[in-house]
Amino acid sequence: METKILSNGVVIPQLGFGTWKNKGEDCYKSVLEALRIGYRHIDTAWTYKNEKEVGQAIIDSGINRHDLFITTKRWNDFRGYEETKQNFYDSLKNLQLEYIDLYLLHWPKEKDSESWRAMEDLYREGKVRAIGVSNYQIHHMEKLLETAMIKPMVNQIEFSPRLTQVELRDYCKLNNIVVESWSPLMQGQVFEINELKDIAKKYNKTVAQVVLRFNIQSDVVVFPKSITAARIQENFDIFDFELDADDMKIINNLNTNERTGPDPDNFDF
Ligand code: NAD
Repeated sequence: METKILSNGVVIPQLGFGTWKNKGEDCYKSVLEALRIGYRHIDTAWTYKNEKEVGQAIIDSGINRHDLFITTKRWNDFRGYEETKQNFYDSLKNLQLEYIDLYLLHWPKEKDSESWRAMEDLYREGKVRAIGVSNYQIHHMEKLLETAMIKPMVNQIEFSPRLTQVELRDYCKLNNIVVESWSPLMQGQVFEINELKDIAKKYNKTVAQVVLRFNIQSDVVVFPKSITAARIQENFDIFDFELDADDMKIINNLNTNERTGPDPDNFDF
């Protein structure tokens, strides 16, 4: 498994398992299956309403907690210092964990500087091994950095062959912030793209594997979501081939700045 190193030295597996829209028994079973296959990094959020199932699967997997990397996120309804801390402790209880590996502010919102102070305190207190943000554009980041004592270690953003976010990724690189990619498969839409089908044929891989490999070679951390055992395995098998420079270029040229999710400058939740 390839890894990235965060600015504070914490090691994060570059491939993880996403859990949005995966609830109840499906969530419990698929997380358990992912852990059995070899995933060691799980991405959840308070608002996914599945932290209890994720936590139970972690316990039942029998895997040593220190071998896992667990991310969850502070939801938008809980803004400011106290509410951020309360939401964090609620997640910790749901997950039945003693600490979180990576805690993120899920979307940029008002009172972010006070919320970030709470994130910094949780980090100093050892409750989280790393802190970061999600869906931050450059201007959100610049504003946060005006008051932050500790720089975010991660920015989790939408990233796909249709949304390569070059400027934002360059900004993060310059600031030693690791980029994580959400909806890497465009929630299924990548399977319609002909250029990707051609590349997949060439490597004898699937479109999903090509796109996930594109993420790995783009230096981003990625966590595809699936509840199907065969696909969970398929998405894990991306470390036995490498896309050549020409194919990386073809995929990068597919960018149209098209989003499958909300625009961080214009959302209403
Ligand atoms: P995704 O791009 O990973 O696509 C998931 C869809 O693709 C599912 O419908 C699944 O059935 C299908 N799929 C997965 N593997 C496949 C395969 N091998 N073959 C065919 N189909 C396959 O979508 P996502 O869940 O939106 O994003 C991944 C993760 O990113 C989420 O689960 C969540 O953890 C995170 N996320 C974060 C934010 C945020 O605001 N921070 C937003 C969205 C998602």
